[in-house]
Amino acid sequence: MDTTLNYSPNFEIKKRKPKQVKFIIFHYTGMKKESDAIERLTSMRSKVSSHYLIRYNGEIVIMVPDLYEAWHAGLSSWKNLKSLNKHSIGIEISNPGHEYNYKKFSKKQIQSIKKLSKFLIEKYKINQKNILGHSDIAPDRKKDPGEKFPWKYLAQFGIGKWHSLPHKTLVKNRRKKISLLDKKKFYLNLSKIGYSNKCPKEIKKDKFLKFVISAFQRRFRQELIDGKIDQECLLISKNLVKKLD
Ligand SMILES: [Zn+2]
Repeated sequence: MDTTLNYSPNFEIKKRKPKQVKFIIFHYTGMKKESDAIERLTSMRSKVSSHYLIRYNGEIVIMVPDLYEAWHAGLSSWKNLKSLNKHSIGIEISNPGHEYNYKKFSKKQIQSIKKLSKFLIEKYKINQKNILGHSDIAPDRKKDPGEKFPWKYLAQFGIGKWHSLPHKTLVKNRRKKISLLDKKKFYLNLSKIGYSNKCPKEIKKDKFLKFVISAFQRRFRQELIDGKIDQECLLISKNLVKKLD
C-alpha cells in the first residue's frame, strides 16, 4: 500500500496491544482547505489527530502509528464501550463537510478507503460490525462522515454492515407513519445495533433522540435525513438486528 508520513504529536504515549484494536472509525475533516486540515491534525495546540488521512487525490497519509491511541473520537460510546479512541483506528477523509458545502467523496478517495480498510481488517481481525462513522458513536455532536459516505458500496467488501432490503420496499415505506409501540421497537433495535440510549444531561431527551435517528439515517437511509422515524427506518433496523445475531 502506498503511503506517506506526516506525523502528529497528538497521541497517547502508552503503546497498546494489537488485540486492543477492535474498531475503525471514519471521519471527514470538515474544513474548507485540505492544507488547513493537515495543519490542524498535526499541530500540538489542536490536541486532535487520527491514524490516517485520505487526501482528495487518494493519497494515504500516516499520522499516528496504529498501536498508539490517536485523539479522533472524543466523547463517544457504542454498546457498552465509552471513549472509543482506546479501541479504534481513526481515518480522516478530506471533505469540507456539512458546514462548508459537503462534497461527494472522490473515486480515488473511495478506492483508498477500500484498500486501507481491507488491510486493517485483515491485520487486526476487525469485525465487520465494528466499522463505524463518527456520528454513530457521537450522534449528539457529530455528522461525519455523513450521508455521502459510500457505506453500501463498501459493505460489499466486508467494510461495515448494510441491510439486505430491496430499494423498492424501502421507497414504498418511506415517510409512512408508525405507531408508538413500533417507535419503541425502533429504539430498542438502535440500542441492539450499538447506538447510545443515554441522553447527556445538558440535552433535552427529544432533541437527543432526533440526533440519534439522524445518525442512523446518515448511515443506513442516506436518501432522506429528516430525524423522523418512519416504516422504512423500522424495517431497516429490524433487518440489521437480524443480521447482527
Ligand atoms: Zn470526526
